Formats: sequence, C-alpha cells, structure tokens
Amino acid sequence: MNQIYVISAPSGAGKSTILKRVLETNPQLTLSVSCTTRKPRPGEQHGREYYFLEKEDFKNKIEQNDFLEYAQVFDNFYGTLKSEIDRSFSEGKSLILEIDVQGARLVREALKDSPLKEKLQFIFITPPSLEILEKRLRDRGTETEEIIQKRLSEAAGEMSAAPEYDEKVINHDLDQAVAQMKTLLSGE
Ligand code: ADP
Ligand code: 5GP
Repeated sequence: MNQIYVISAPSGAGKSTILKRVLETNPQLTLSVSCTTRKPRPGEQHGREYYFLEKEDFKNKIEQNDFLEYAQVFDNFYGTLKSEIDRSFSEGKSLILEIDVQGARLVREALKDSPLKEKLQFIFITPPSLEILEKRLRDRGTETEEIIQKRLSEAAGEMSAAPEYDEKVINHDLDQAVAQMKTLLSGE
C-alpha cells in the first residue's frame, strides 16, 4: 500500500488507454495530476488530465520549489507537484506518476535518500514495434504530422531507457497488457 509507481512509455505506446482501464477497477490507485504548459487536447480538462499553465505560472512553481521533478518534453514543460504525494497518501492510496524517462530519472535522484525510496517502482510500457507505434499515433489523430514525426524520432531514444525500469509491459494485445498492469499495480 501507499506505493509510488513511476510509469513511462514513448508517446502513443498506450499508456493512457491501459491506465484508464486499470484505474477503473482499482480504487486503491490514484493518478498524479501533472502541470504542463502544453495546450489541452479536445476533451481534456484543467485539473483532471493536467493543470494547464502558462509558462510564467510554471516558472513561478519552479521558483517556489513546488515540483518533485520537472522536465521539458518536446516543446513544453511538464512537472510533478510534490503535493500529489501528500494527497495520495492522505487518501490512503498508491500514486501513479505517468512521466517521461527524464522525469523518472529525476524522481529516482530526488528520492534516493528519502524513506519514500522504498515505495518506488518503475514500470516501462513499450509498443510491439516502432512501426506499430507510428500507426497508433496516426490513428489517434490528435497531433499534426510535424508533431507525430517529432514524437517518433524521440521514441527510439526513450525505448533505450527501458532497462532502467523494474518491470516492462509490451502493449501488443491490449487485454493482456491491462491484465499484466493490474497485477503489477495490485501491490502484491
Ligand atoms: P499514450 O498515452 O501512451 O500516448 P494512448 O493510450 O493514447 O497512448 O494510445 C495511442 C493510440 O493507440 C490510441 O488511439 C489507442 O486507442 C491505441 N491503442 C492503445 N493500445 C492499443 C493496442 N494494444 N492495440 C491497438 N491500439 C491500441
Ligand atoms: P502528453 O503531452 O502526450 O500528455 O505527454 C507527453 C509526455 O510528457 C509523456 O511522455 C508523458 O509521460 C510526459 N509527462 C507528463 N506529465 C509529466 C510530468 O509531470 N513530468 C515529466 N517529466 N513528464 C511528464
């Protein structure tokens, strides 16, 4: 109980799809709501998917030392608020940080001398191949071609970070990936 799961994956690997299904069935888990300077996608809500901030507000939070970690991902800033750990623990829940590989490294470093270190588990989700990743990103239809190309060129580098993680989930068949993730996040 009260674990901190750090989950990374190249964009389009299926992280949101898998976690949505796991969260629906496990009330012991809560997703950390990050801050970002990127614009909301259709259907995304401030305070639910992210806290959508102007660059200036994001910088203020950096100065106030509000972040456990933050990183520039693609052209935007993303950061995990320290207060998300307090929130999840006060609710008696385990926390999921859905963050990129730079952020995962920063969390490992930030908590290396903290008792919270024992609670950390690092999980990496990979697509079956880069070709399938490209197809999924295109089919999702939420990004422009330019952004898709940028994300694909980052994906290979991100995938090389997989050995740094405790567990790996290959998202080939969605039901199987969800089942594997449910087991990993069950705290057993
Ligand atoms: P991420 O959150 O990692 O960026 P998404 O969860 O948005 O990725 O998934 C990217 C796209 O791939 C979505 O359109 C999603 O429906 C689709 N997808 C996810 N997992 C699978 C799967 N196992 N098989 C086929 N399509 C998938
Ligand atoms: P997206 O824009 O698709 O929601 O997310 C883009 C990338 O930013 C993903 O790899 C996601 O994991 C990462 N990300 C989201 N929130 C955070 C955060 O708080 N910190 C870091 N370092 N990365 C994040």
